[in-house]
Amino acid sequence: MPTRNLVLVLGDQLSPRLSSLTTADPSHDTILMVEVEEEATYVRHHKKKIAFLFSAMRHFDKKLRSNGWNVEYVRINSRDNTGSFTSEVARTVERLKPDRVLVTEPGEWRVLNEVNTWSDRLDLPVDVLEDDRFLCSRTEFADWAMDRKQLRMEYFYREMRRKTSLLMDGDKPEGGRWNFDSENRKPSRTDLLIPSPAMFKPDAITKDVLKLVDERFGDHFGDLTPFWFAVKSEQADQALVHFLETALPLFGDYQDAMLKNERFLYHSVISHYINAGLLDPLYVCQSVEAAYRAGRAPLNAAEGFIRQIIGWREYVRGIYWLKMPDYLRENFFEAERSLPTFYWTAKTEMACVRAAVTQTKEEAYAHHIQRLMVTGNFAMLAGVRPQDVHEWYLAVYADAYEWVELPNTLGMSQFADGGLLGSKPYAASGNYINKMSDYCKSCRYDVKKKAGDDACPFNPLYWDFLVRNENKLRGNPRLAQVYRAWDHMSQDRKAAYLESAGRFLGDLD
Ligand SMILES: Cc1cc2nc3c(=O)[nH]c(=O)nc-3n(C[C@H](O)[C@H](O)[C@H](O)COP(=O)(O)OP(=O)(O)OC[C@H]3O[C@@H](n4cnc5c(N)ncnc54)[C@H](O)[C@@H]3O)c2cc1C
Ligand code: SF4
Repeated sequence: MPTRNLVLVLGDQLSPRLSSLTTADPSHDTILMVEVEEEATYVRHHKKKIAFLFSAMRHFDKKLRSNGWNVEYVRINSRDNTGSFTSEVARTVERLKPDRVLVTEPGEWRVLNEVNTWSDRLDLPVDVLEDDRFLCSRTEFADWAMDRKQLRMEYFYREMRRKTSLLMDGDKPEGGRWNFDSENRKPSRTDLLIPSPAMFKPDAITKDVLKLVDERFGDHFGDLTPFWFAVKSEQADQALVHFLETALPLFGDYQDAMLKNERFLYHSVISHYINAGLLDPLYVCQSVEAAYRAGRAPLNAAEGFIRQIIGWREYVRGIYWLKMPDYLRENFFEAERSLPTFYWTAKTEMACVRAAVTQTKEEAYAHHIQRLMVTGNFAMLAGVRPQDVHEWYLAVYADAYEWVELPNTLGMSQFADGGLLGSKPYAASGNYINKMSDYCKSCRYDVKKKAGDDACPFNPLYWDFLVRNENKLRGNPRLAQVYRAWDHMSQDRKAAYLESAGRFLGDLD
């Protein structure tokens, strides 16, 4: 039977209820899925990330076929694979001669731009459908943002709570408050019984993919094995249930904590499943609410978790589409240093950075506070070019796609947008890391020392950063107290800070 619609399903669109699939009809339409070289290499993604996506795509292909779909699946090592979406769609159009192409809007600006050229290039209608797996459409976000002086996540989040009815008590927030964050800042404790995320044994499909990735992308960053990620939605569901049962109750309390020997703490480790389409974000939040309503998790945990998804996740996506493509070039502090090599090798004496990079290399995962307050904080204090930092985060994490990674990196962690996402930079000295983790105990640097060769580098770098960017930051009311503290410091102390920072940065170069 001739193909009516050619439906392109991208690697992060592995959801049966995807708008392009619910619009299409298995009896007339053909699905196209392609493992694209260009996508795997435009930044050199972590080996585990590539393996996760290719394996999840192959499992999704199998599922679609068993549901009666006609699927054209092009493997990366197929002799005919031409290596880009555009050329693969063109090749399939040439062969199947469909009436039109259907695609759910891609998550990344770069890919959407490419898709927007297809209609002319192929001389065929191309329908780009909204991605309704997100709760807030791009237009809805733009409407919300219009005429607002500040785009604060907290206000957006309240709208999303009302819209989804999650944790609502009539028109009031459950528990009388929108946000229980003040209860979610407990420092780490080494005597806690900490669960690990659900882990899955590679099946035959995954084993094939692991071999392929090893052969083809062996020189990319990161360890390929042990590989324990879920690669199909049934497994991702199990991972969610496991999180609800073992970690959710303490998710809130220890959300900001870090421990040297505990990589996952009470985090869910499901962002890569949600972002690839294996888990539905609303369903995840509803499951968390159900656990709270059944008395299996406290409100601070459930609210804190749901805020990350219907608040932060939706909000950063809105910002991305609102501000692209200019957002990519933002560099508020005009930072120009290259990313230090230890972001790839973990060869640094800073125990906190070493732990975060080592775990990133081994797991393609680090939790939020490691990303924000260790590797992100260090890069900002050291004056690393935000675009270098962005490329690193995009490459090394299994959950990284530009729509979510870029605002988190450039905006939240580097303050490169000058304060669109946050009201002040997330800059911190070693004191914060010491309070929230046990890293400092085994570090060659002394977190209590403020300057000198043995001083924790975060201490002098913190002041150096504030002095270096004084003209941009002194007017910020949230930093007034910090600058007052600097003003009251003795000249000797100021000089010692700046000299230590200068020496450390000199060695870094
Ligand atoms: C510099 C930097 C880069 C980041 N890059 C990414 C990225 O590429 N992809 C990504 O999904 N997240 C990114 N984040 C956000 C966050 O760190 C990860 O979502 C989280 O660590 C994933 O682990 P988890 O599933 O255990 O999350 P949990 O701590 O269990 O949180 C639950 C869920 O909330 C969502 N979430 C939490 N925080 C955020 C956030 N700030 N933005 C969007 N969603 C959030 C995720 O879906 C996550 O699975 C980044 C944060 C920073 C500071
Ligand atoms: S002393 Fe400083 S560098 Fe060392 S672990 Fe603590 S914060 Fe990190």
